[in-house]
Amino acid sequence: HETVYAIASGKGGVGKTTTTVNLGTALADAGARVAIVDADLGMANLAGFVSLSPDSTTLHDVLAGDASIEDATYRLADDIVAVPSGTSLDEYAETSPEGLREAVEDLRSRFDYVLLDVGAGISHETVLPLGLADAVVLVSTPEPAAVHDTKKTVELTDRSGGEVAGLVLTRTRPDGDVSHEELADRLEVPLLGTIPEDPAARDSVYAGTPLVVYEPDGPAAVAYRRLAADLTGVE
Ligand code: ADP
Ligand code: MG
Repeated sequence: HETVYAIASGKGGVGKTTTTVNLGTALADAGARVAIVDADLGMANLAGFVSLSPDSTTLHDVLAGDASIEDATYRLADDIVAVPSGTSLDEYAETSPEGLREAVEDLRSRFDYVLLDVGAGISHETVLPLGLADAVVLVSTPEPAAVHDTKKTVELTDRSGGEVAGLVLTRTRPDGDVSHEELADRLEVPLLGTIPEDPAARDSVYAGTPLVVYEPDGPAAVAYRRLAADLTGVE
């Protein structure tokens, strides 16, 4: 089965980190061994979503050649670990994304699923993970600008020899959105799932707890568990 997923978007702020954390937690709750990786090297913030305070070692140290990936791996719960990134501009400046391939291959050998929370945009460090992953999960809100930017991520995935798994639409509303199927058709990719707008998403970040744990019966949590099952067959 596919092991390494890149969670990617064109536009920022559309729910990539939320998706990485909750897809990962849902898979771990279903018994899979999962690593979630903050590959958003420039705007790292995954650690805060799960109340992780890395002692000192992060993915930046690994990519700078100063630490092994094991040193930057932190256990969150029984079946899930996180690899955080550094959050300072200085750390970012010293990083070269080239070492990511080796780090990902190491994680691939030790986990059932490796989820890469990729930065938005079209920079080199964003494009690299698209080709490293077995499959790319595109994340977008239904807004026209966000969907439009997603096209570039599809193109970049093709150019890097990667494979698009499909589209996850986040922050959807019961009415007012363009048909979700139509948005996926516009990108010529399958619609993997829709995650409704849910105030618990923001609250869970403040609580530093994954949404699927914070409010497991809320609409977004239910949708993330369904996405995990539909994407991987694990439930
Ligand atoms: P990205 O990683 O793409 O920048 P985030 O996952 O950080 O996006 O989400 C951006 C903002 O949107 C956060 O404030 C988050 O709480 C909020 N958000 C994400 N998903 C939902 C949702 N389903 N309902 C409501 N708010 C959401
Ligand atoms: Mg993010």
